[in-house]
Amino acid sequence: MDRIMPNRLDRGFYKYQSEYENKALEVLRSGWYVLGHEVSSFEEEFASYTGAKYCAGLASGLDALWIAFRILGIGSGDEVIVQGNTYIASVMGITINGATPVFVEPDEYFNIDTSKIEEKITSKTKAVLVVHLYGQASDMTSVVELCRKYDLCLVEDCAQSHGARWNGQQVGTFGDIGCFSFYPSKNLGAFGDAGAIVTNSKEIADEVKVFRNYGSEKRYHNKVVGANSRLDEIQAGFLRVKLSHLDELAEEKKRICERYSEELNNEKIVLPKTRDGATHIWHQYVIKSDYRDELISYLDEQGIGTIIHYPIPPHLSEAYSYLGLKEGSLPITEKYAKTVLSIPLYNGMTEEEQDYIIEKINRF
Ligand SMILES: *Cc1c(COP(=O)(O)O)cnc(C)c1O
Repeated sequence: MDRIMPNRLDRGFYKYQSEYENKALEVLRSGWYVLGHEVSSFEEEFASYTGAKYCAGLASGLDALWIAFRILGIGSGDEVIVQGNTYIASVMGITINGATPVFVEPDEYFNIDTSKIEEKITSKTKAVLVVHLYGQASDMTSVVELCRKYDLCLVEDCAQSHGARWNGQQVGTFGDIGCFSFYPSKNLGAFGDAGAIVTNSKEIADEVKVFRNYGSEKRYHNKVVGANSRLDEIQAGFLRVKLSHLDELAEEKKRICERYSEELNNEKIVLPKTRDGATHIWHQYVIKSDYRDELISYLDEQGIGTIIHYPIPPHLSEAYSYLGLKEGSLPITEKYAKTVLSIPLYNGMTEEEQDYIIEKINRF
């Protein structure tokens, strides 16, 4: 058996190879490469997929986050509540505008522990950023209630959760803005960088579309100091192809993960759980183990690659040393950083590969 990598993006490409190749040629031959038919069609299709009224394509998931907070007017002197155990880009989306992240510990589903949000709200709190981590929707009922009660903006980081639902409603549509990344490894991934926001507010959608293009609605008429964060036509075209297959891709990942959950059986390992009312789109299959580092070396010797999402929590990273948060300030977040492990998971995984992974993990 060849070495099994944590992810295999080539397998995803070959599944629909001719559709992607035809789309690439179509865009190349069209002579129109930025903000055209593919982008506007993708925006309509993705809005409709999520159930949001509007979508604006952007250049990355990080851009979606910081532009969301910029448009909401959240910056210097403001606080934004976010879970401690997220990917650092969520936090950068807050701090690029000068706002301060206030970290909340995660629950046993790796999402924000909603019972610990209220105690962190101060007169400076302007928003809550909910990250639906690893693909599972968070408990949005309590977050929506809190945001109403304290008049806070609600932004969702859906970079890992395209299509996940809470009580039947898709993530990204519960608050003011839903932010998506289409980085190649995400469940809806392009073949390069790409991102988007979704919203039910026409005003916000229009402002984002102006902001992403140097603040101009009409060429050379600049209303605000914006950015260049346009989604490429060729990436939008690829995303349209992938979106048309997203449900079957999600179904395949779900089958793989259900098999993991049924057949993995080792007392040194804790398997991931799904909350009642939430769906999980399995961006990652994340297990926990007190013997995590030994497990990594053992699997590596057996030819199985794994990844830690994430080994250094944002509050302990060098980039955020200025916040002055010491080790021990977020014990659950820090414990997760020491015990979580993502095992191989991708569309196009063979049964033989999965048999091998299950057998080796069970023997550890
Ligand atoms: C990938 C990711 C981002 C950033 O997306 P990019 O497209 O890489 O900029 C933000 N938040 C989370 C949770 C992510 O997983």
